[in-house]
Amino acid sequence: MEYIAFALKYRPQNFEEVIGQEHVVVSIKNAILKKHIHHAYLFSGPRGTGKTSLARIFAKALNCESENAPVISPCGKCVSCVEIAKGTSLDIIEIDGASNRGIDEIRTLRENVKLSPAHARYKVYIIDEVHMLTQEAFNALLKTLEEPPAHVKFIFATTHPHKVIPTILSRCQKFQFSLIPLEKIVDKLKSITKIEGVKITDNLLYAISRASGGSIRDAESLLDQLVPVIVEKGSIEDIFSFLGIIDEDTLGKMAGFIINKDLQSALDFVDRVVKDGKDLSIFVNALIEYLRNFLLAKVSVKTFKALTDISTQSKESILKVSASITLSQVLKIIDLLIEAKELSHRLNTVRIPLELALVKFILPQESEYKKTAEKISNLSVDKNNPSSKEIKTEIKLSDSDIKLEGDFNMDEDDSSVKKTPLQQEHQAENKTEDDCLLLNEVKAKWQEIITNMQKVRVAISSHLSLSEPLSSSANIIKIGFSNKDYFHKEIVETAKNVKFIEDLISKILNKKIGVKFVLSDKIASKTIDISQSNGASTQSAADSSGQPNEFINELMDTFGGQFHTEDE
Ligand SMILES: [Zn+2]
Repeated sequence: MEYIAFALKYRPQNFEEVIGQEHVVVSIKNAILKKHIHHAYLFSGPRGTGKTSLARIFAKALNCESENAPVISPCGKCVSCVEIAKGTSLDIIEIDGASNRGIDEIRTLRENVKLSPAHARYKVYIIDEVHMLTQEAFNALLKTLEEPPAHVKFIFATTHPHKVIPTILSRCQKFQFSLIPLEKIVDKLKSITKIEGVKITDNLLYAISRASGGSIRDAESLLDQLVPVIVEKGSIEDIFSFLGIIDEDTLGKMAGFIINKDLQSALDFVDRVVKDGKDLSIFVNALIEYLRNFLLAKVSVKTFKALTDISTQSKESILKVSASITLSQVLKIIDLLIEAKELSHRLNTVRIPLELALVKFILPQESEYKKTAEKISNLSVDKNNPSSKEIKTEIKLSDSDIKLEGDFNMDEDDSSVKKTPLQQEHQAENKTEDDCLLLNEVKAKWQEIITNMQKVRVAISSHLSLSEPLSSSANIIKIGFSNKDYFHKEIVETAKNVKFIEDLISKILNKKIGVKFVLSDKIASKTIDISQSNGASTQSAADSSGQPNEFINELMDTFGGQFHTEDE
């Protein structure tokens, strides 16, 4: 037997079977009952929401022979109903606006419109994607619409009503189709699988429905692709990767790592998603949607139950897990992921922004570091506190011997102890004279270094502007980033960038200089001021010619990305 696609096989055949467009169905039925049927209708709305299906049902209702006038329940048995269902009726003319968009086609239509219906009560023209018609075709169509013969009805369908000329729009009764609610799609799919005798989990039905984005046709064709796989393999995991859908279990696992602040597992998981060949941007979108459930759960259980569109099983698990996270934390991670999404458009990579968001959320924040550091710092200057004895000894030593050196001094920026200005002074004295001179020289010329760098590599200078020179030893300058800016440190730390920075500093100082980057809690986190780092004027991502500007070029240079404009 010939295989019939679900979308075709389970296409609604009467008004009652239409899902998600009740407002349109009610109006059309009323028009039929009141015998107040317009000459032309415009059905507009997203693809796959039932516009042409409803147009055919309407055509059936207009022509059904069960009564002497249009009916609201076409019989489905008379010649007219059967022919329309089969698509063989001579009086129902379906035209695809996309492929018959020229004036010749519309001229032919104008000629044919004049002829009486072959068999039926009305000649019904269904023009799909009517917005695709050319201007001349629209004008020709308009003439027909101005004086339509009594036996002709037009039903136009379009996904882009704003592209239909106003003079046509004004002659139509307009109906706006909506995206179909998830639950209704799930119900429809359930009834199909029941009839087909296919066993399928709710979890998967919800996933398919979500992936269809409110289009029943898309949902049905996804199911179409799936059923043979289910029958053959039966494994859920295969099916999800087959469809490129992220299933709730995967999302639940990832959310668990985030909530438990398990950075290692979260990053490993991202790696696995990439290696599994899943699209990371779909993953991020799905994750944001999934975390939205936690947001609703934190607002109220009632809101959560009313507004989430996931399976009952996932609902229960989310309610349980949401106890371990605060509302502000949920808001924060969602914000960070949205930020990552936006950044990913600019950088043409999803992975780095996603990892950045995870690290930012999971790693302890700078303020927490500060609190700890301050506690220790207070301890060290408290002379009455016996526990600070050791540190005081060290201070004395450094007081007495200006040449004292060693690890104790060199690693000061790696320690978690926040030094007082006095202590810093002492440390400066601990270095050799050359080291001191070099550090002072670098500090004095730091702004000059950054400014010079801006002229060649804007992005690197932006990252570096967050750092400060900390110390120097044997012509190696230690440059510190705040703990929070570890990401910027990682970027400047690549071999290529280090060489560039070293060369530039060496040139400015006129001597061979090495650099080493460290994280230090002595440095406050700053924000990159793009306008400043770009020179005097603020620039947008692309200049008026649509070309990426220098800053973006630099970003791409840093991340190895490509530039895409919104239209691409
Ligand atoms: Zn009939």
